[in-house]
Amino acid sequence: MTIPQLDLAGEYQQLRTEIDAAVQQVFLKGAFIDGAENAALEHELAEYIGAAEVICVNSGTDALLLSLKALGIGAGDDVIVPAFTFFATAEVVSLARARPCFADCAPGQYNIDVDGIREALTPRTKAVIAVHLFGQPVDLKPLQEFCVNHDLWLIEDAAQAIGARYHDRGIGSFGVTGAFSFYPTKNLGAYGDGGAIACSDPDLASRLRCLRNHGRQDRYQHSEIGFNSRLDELQAAILRVKLPYLDDWNARRRQLAALYQQALQNTECNWPAVLEGTVPVHHQFVVTHPHRDALQLFLAGHNISTAVFYPIPCHRQPAFSESHAGVSLPLAERLADQVLALPIYPALPPEAVWHIGELIQDFEHVDTGRGNHPNPHY
Ligand SMILES: *Cc1c(COP(=O)(O)O)cnc(C)c1O
Repeated sequence: MTIPQLDLAGEYQQLRTEIDAAVQQVFLKGAFIDGAENAALEHELAEYIGAAEVICVNSGTDALLLSLKALGIGAGDDVIVPAFTFFATAEVVSLARARPCFADCAPGQYNIDVDGIREALTPRTKAVIAVHLFGQPVDLKPLQEFCVNHDLWLIEDAAQAIGARYHDRGIGSFGVTGAFSFYPTKNLGAYGDGGAIACSDPDLASRLRCLRNHGRQDRYQHSEIGFNSRLDELQAAILRVKLPYLDDWNARRRQLAALYQQALQNTECNWPAVLEGTVPVHHQFVVTHPHRDALQLFLAGHNISTAVFYPIPCHRQPAFSESHAGVSLPLAERLADQVLALPIYPALPPEAVWHIGELIQDFEHVDTGRGNHPNPHY
């Protein structure tokens, strides 16, 4: 059985008639930027997420960067970000000329919590970017309280979590902004780059609209230095075809995650418990394993594609290692050594999950001498 990490071409086949028609409509109309598809998508996403407004942009990265810019965060400011996340979460802070301060993960979680944030707090901290990593909601209530008490903006990086819920409200609607990515592999993926910002503050929303379009107030007036960060009409049309399927796809991911939890019960794999009151969307199903690298090789030998998200925590990335030389975040560093993302996508057959579970049991029961060479880190 050959099992890919994901299957985007297969997903297109399933939606082919609808996608082709939507794309053709855009070609026939001849409007490619800032048109009716964008307006409609923004409306539909705002409804879906439960935010007053959504502003579509070029990428999830830009959704974060424009959020920082619109809030006036820049030189001299600190922004707290998780050490264990995709690089872009921290990159945007530097792009805005502020300084990223890295927070460790909560014990037993992939996400950050208030304790980690408190450790990273400085007198210059202006904002916290909370990442709902792998589609698991961050525990937002204590975090919101902390941010209110310390006069910090809370920005949600919901790039991996569209459709997830926290106490019956959509992820991305809790922060001053919520950033979404439509990168093709995300739960709601475009056929190219794309992103969106959820925002319920009308003044901030109009500032974001201005920033994404060269700081333009109207056609000829530029009130500030902005960006070219608009979403193509083609991508908007494709996303509008896909959005009505998203809840079913996410439910399917939850079923597969539940199956993995059964199939891996008697293995050395571990994963964080889902927080009470949250509905995750399992962008990835990520386990930790004490022999991660050997397990990944073993699975590859059996035609199972897996991935490591993320092998290097942000503070150890070459781009940050000099400026953050003394920083030690043991939980994030340990995760980087142990995490493995198993295949999960809506069309993955349940048999594949059982098969992977059996292979992992085989791996652990074969005497490869691993017991004599424990992982030097632990
Ligand atoms: C994908 C992703 C981003 C960036 O989104 P792009 O659309 O690729 O720019 C930011 N943060 C996280 C956590 C992501 O997974």
